[in-house]
Amino acid sequence: MGQPVAGNPTQYMMEKCFAAAGLDCRYLTFEVRPEGLGDAVRGMKAMGFRGGNFTIPHKVEVIQYLDGLTNAAELMGAVNCVFRNTDGNYIGENTDGKGFIGSLQQATEVDGKNVVILGAGGAARAIAVELGLAGASEITIVNRTAERGQELTDLLNDRVKTSAIFLPWTGDFEVNQNTDVVINATSIGLGDETARVPIAAESLLPQMVVADVIFNPSKTQFLREASDRGCQILDGLGMLVNQAVICFEIWTAVAPNAAVMREALEEYLEL
Ligand code: NDP
Repeated sequence: MGQPVAGNPTQYMMEKCFAAAGLDCRYLTFEVRPEGLGDAVRGMKAMGFRGGNFTIPHKVEVIQYLDGLTNAAELMGAVNCVFRNTDGNYIGENTDGKGFIGSLQQATEVDGKNVVILGAGGAARAIAVELGLAGASEITIVNRTAERGQELTDLLNDRVKTSAIFLPWTGDFEVNQNTDVVINATSIGLGDETARVPIAAESLLPQMVVADVIFNPSKTQFLREASDRGCQILDGLGMLVNQAVICFEIWTAVAPNAAVMREALEEYLEL
């Protein structure tokens, strides 16, 4: 299948929560080469795994080896969580966007909200689809590469049946005043707390909720600017914890203690 590798944040969170819930389960991490992916999935099926997480570069390619997809994963065309259903079939789900929504709901309802999403990659796609399914009123996709941004916008309009528009990202983006939620779903800021997301900070208003998918560092430059403008901010740690909470529950039918998960993540990241 692949080489066992040293732990990652999700493994650390899962193992802490298995222990806290008194479950006799293990979360193992393997590094699998692209050419070994089919064998790896056949291996997990043969060994009766309850499920697993798949990350870059396998989120799209894994689909061909699965027995089915949830509606959201099918719309996103990407899977980060696989589970064995009661028929013994292995189904692909995507919990990234649901994890984000869980985080957002701590600050505001999604229904009827105008949302700006910066980025159109995998994270943006997962978040946009779930926001559309949850009843967001209008989603504005802002992306540097027009083709990718337009493709996500078309998906939202045509298949998720939400109202979406695409704006190309040139210079500092000015956030429209009627926006409720602004999300940085780009990789800008990953591992660099001084990296600047090109937006006009003065267009952020105190009534806006501003979120970042970046979890390391947890307080990005983007969130610091939003906080200085009086906005309510949500860091990427919440999304990471919530997507793991959902996976845990799918696999075990037990609701994990989210506080234990967050504590484990902060411990792992030495925050
Ligand atoms: P992708 O590579 O699929 O997409 C990256 C996006 O960032 C693209 O839209 C890209 O634009 C944009 N981008 C990158 N650099 C720039 C730049 N300098 N200026 C403008 N736009 C830029 O990555 P993912 O969507 O998979 O991941 C994005 C981030 O989300 C990662 O940092 C990842 O760690 C994080 N993440 C966090 C999760 C969590 O639970 N908190 C879960 C999943 C991901 P373009 O299309 O023009 O290239």
